[in-house]
Amino acid sequence: MTGPKNGPEAGPATGPSTGSTTDPATRTDRDRAVRAAVAQRLTGPGEPVAGLLDIAGIRRSAAELRAAFDEFTAPGTPVLHAFAVKAASLVPVLRLLAQEGLGCEVASPGELALARAAGVPAARTVLDSPAKTPAELREALALGIAVNADNPEELARIDGLVASAPTTAPLGLRVNPQIGGGRIGAMSTATDTSKFGIALRDEGARDWVVRACLDRPWLTRLHAHVGSQGMPLALMAEGVRALYDLAEEINERAGRAQIDTLDLGGGLPVNFDSDAVTPTYREYAGLLHSAVPGLFSGRYGLVTEFGRSLLAKHGTVLARVEYAKSAGGRPIAVTHAGAQVATRTVFVPDAWPIRVAAYDAEGRPRTGPPVAQDIAGPCCFAGDLVAENRPLPLLASGDHVALLDTGAYYFSTHFAYNSLPRPGVYGYATAPDGTVRFATIRTPQTLEELTAESGAAHADALHGLGEG
Ligand SMILES: *Cc1c(COP(=O)(O)O)cnc(C)c1O
Repeated sequence: MTGPKNGPEAGPATGPSTGSTTDPATRTDRDRAVRAAVAQRLTGPGEPVAGLLDIAGIRRSAAELRAAFDEFTAPGTPVLHAFAVKAASLVPVLRLLAQEGLGCEVASPGELALARAAGVPAARTVLDSPAKTPAELREALALGIAVNADNPEELARIDGLVASAPTTAPLGLRVNPQIGGGRIGAMSTATDTSKFGIALRDEGARDWVVRACLDRPWLTRLHAHVGSQGMPLALMAEGVRALYDLAEEINERAGRAQIDTLDLGGGLPVNFDSDAVTPTYREYAGLLHSAVPGLFSGRYGLVTEFGRSLLAKHGTVLARVEYAKSAGGRPIAVTHAGAQVATRTVFVPDAWPIRVAAYDAEGRPRTGPPVAQDIAGPCCFAGDLVAENRPLPLLASGDHVALLDTGAYYFSTHFAYNSLPRPGVYGYATAPDGTVRFATIRTPQTLEELTAESGAAHADALHGLGEG
């Protein structure tokens, strides 16, 4: 599904030019939300940048995920969709997703604390992390949280814990099927030398895994997450296929269904070029169904760990343009959204390009002929640009820019450069009559909080230390 071309030459002058195709309904909702956010001063002179989340959109994506797997799984198959908390580490969002039937995948004590604060039960929480401490493991086992061990040393620690106290926690092993990487090296976790899981194709590794399971009747799960963003779907399916084949082999050797659950990871890529949602969960589930026919037979419970694909399309960074200037003949809009909210885009622009939409001072779509310009952030380094040479209606000071598709891994994953405060985050919903209501998800960080986090309580701590 692709919307009409939204170029100045093709589209009506109602939507902001993003230089790409957009879905009209999504665009209308977003335009209304931007207008209302400006009118209600969620952004303004005091708060020059904010994150906005489309709550109906998030609910829709969660429902699509569940429906996609429901369509293919045998009735009664346990399926847990555990949202990867790192994609949007915001407690109200985790609770919303829980209401929509999702659990949480956590990878640190902080993420676990957020999931618990959101009220996500232990039985719907999965702990994956390559560096779990003994204390984290002990807590997870005591709470009954599913744990996927990353490596032989971690498994040995779990041996000790299981021997010393009984646990109801489902325990699994993460494997790396080594099927290769995707478009973005840093996001590819199934390369030959990836740091994650047990490298299944290394010499002797497969036999080691089989033996490790046969020796531990409580090891009942296998887990693989082969990458995030930029992974071809066929390669993802190949990773799941490898996981399934391994489970079959273990169960055959064990003479019983020891491995009862397969954790397929997340990683469905997101389209950052337009409002079209592609690929869809249904396409992916359908592909898995044909590539790994036994997967949905009901012989295995399933866990998924999607993050970006649930949230990305539903988030917008809204920022004021502080100044408009030019250098070397190039117009530059100096805005309040840069590396602190769009870290990956700024540092690795080729891998993470995002759409930018232009709005005027009142938050109405800005119109005008496209002019190639730089959209800069507030950080004090030259590369702090969210878009370079991007054709957009010429921005003026007091205007606004919206960074689209930023609901996952952008404003929720703030980077504290230049001591820029974490922006406020607001959920919105549009009523049938077009009015927009907001709810605060996260208040903007105050300068007091920021100073406290920077050691204000220890201002005197260095006094005299190291003096002669
Ligand atoms: C990051 C991560 C995910 C989520 O990846 P997305 O690309 O956001 O879907 C899932 N599982 C694990 C183990 C991860 O590290």
